[in-house]
Amino acid sequence: SSFISVANLANQLGVRYNQLSKSLATLGFDDDQLGHDYILDHETAALVAEEFGFTIINDSIEKMDEKYDVQPAPPCEDLAKLKPRPPIVTIMGHVDHGKTTILDFLRKSSIVKGEFGGITQHIGAFSVTTPVSKKNITFLDTPGHAAFLKMRERGASVTDIVILVIAADDSVKPQTIEAIKHCQKSNANVVLAINKCDKPDAKPDKVLQDLTQHGIFAENYGGDIQAVRVSGLSGLNMDKLEEEVVALAEVLDLKAEFNGVPVEGHVIESQVKKGAGNVATVLVTRGSLKNGSIVVAGQTWGRVKSLKNEFNKTVKVATPSMPVEVYGWKQLPEAGDLVIEVPTEAKAKSVIDYRIERSRIQQQLKELDNINKQRILQK
Ligand code: GDP
Ligand code: MG
Repeated sequence: SSFISVANLANQLGVRYNQLSKSLATLGFDDDQLGHDYILDHETAALVAEEFGFTIINDSIEKMDEKYDVQPAPPCEDLAKLKPRPPIVTIMGHVDHGKTTILDFLRKSSIVKGEFGGITQHIGAFSVTTPVSKKNITFLDTPGHAAFLKMRERGASVTDIVILVIAADDSVKPQTIEAIKHCQKSNANVVLAINKCDKPDAKPDKVLQDLTQHGIFAENYGGDIQAVRVSGLSGLNMDKLEEEVVALAEVLDLKAEFNGVPVEGHVIESQVKKGAGNVATVLVTRGSLKNGSIVVAGQTWGRVKSLKNEFNKTVKVATPSMPVEVYGWKQLPEAGDLVIEVPTEAKAKSVIDYRIERSRIQQQLKELDNINKQRILQK
């Protein structure tokens, strides 16, 4: 498919013929084969254009521009627009120290206390209302999960607070140390859950002492990190743990815009559901997601058909820190994808066209790069 002459392409990209022929040489074109009038096919032109920061959309050469994509809105500077939002909490710790038990207890107690006497669905995240202060906490139960790795790669961190679980009968272990390092690197705010305190051989004081060797200083141990002696099994002090999280959240002054800004969020997990199509659990971080909202995520988009919480109950609106199941995606978005609201379906489609084209070309450039490297090695 002949598409454009070398001279015309150089002109449109705003580069010299020499620069273009150099770039074409890396694609395997010979200098003596080329000339100003040499006609490039669509594919080759797209590859070269990409190197110079251009892309080909509908046969026209366009500066690869943010205008085809969509970015999060700049941070809010008007403090009056910000409202308090629930903290987003993950649980970390050594294997068998009780992470799952603690999460299950929190989840179950939230159901018993809640208005729905029902079965929860696993949606990767859930909300809890604390028994005393009646504040909400959002728990993510998928750390170590692909979504987190992808978000970390992008430099996005959704977690506000880490509950570090250490079994009082086992103390600090290799994965405890790993978790501590992660918390220190990402500057996470930590609450300690000294677990299994129902056991006769529990030694919570030893745990707190051992933690000082790793730079974790609890109250009365040279620092101000809160430590709660709990049992995920019996429920001992679990309400205190929740209240410590809420207290820390208040100190952190966690806030977000609930309105007047395009919705932002992260895909926590996604799946195709029988009869319901593509469903993604989204943790909203900004704005209010509603039925009819048009959102893009990764290389897909959707018009929100319905929103459901972890009780499989329809919700009208999802505000910051709320996890919801979002129905209505054209294709399945991936865990870790950034979700952004756009004003129209046309905008959503052009953003996705652009992203697909860009990643296709980047993939090809990568393959070509590999071929060239092999060629050099063979010489
Ligand atoms: P995870 O690997 O950190 O998710 O740990 P689990 O939640 O799967 O717990 C590992 C084991 O410890 C299970 O047999 C739990 O029943 C037990 N366990 C967890 N929490 C407690 C607790 O507070 N007290 C006691 N006695 N056992 C617990
Ligand atoms: Mg577990």
